[in-house]
Amino acid sequence: MSVKRIVNCPRCGTPVEWSPEARFRPFCSERCKMTDLGAWATEKFRIPEEKNDMEEVPDGDEG
Ligand SMILES: [Zn+2]
Repeated sequence: MSVKRIVNCPRCGTPVEWSPEARFRPFCSERCKMTDLGAWATEKFRIPEEKNDMEEVPDGDEG
């Protein structure tokens, strides 16, 4: 008794059979995989810039 495991493509929702033949699982195709990876990478580059609140010593050298 073997139960086929079906997952939904995270990208487009297409049911994908979780098998060794599904090379791009959990994605339905290479296209979806690349698209998702691309989006992920883009998100990575969009991390909010964290400003370092360093105490800046004013250069008040009046002399
Ligand atoms: Zn897909």
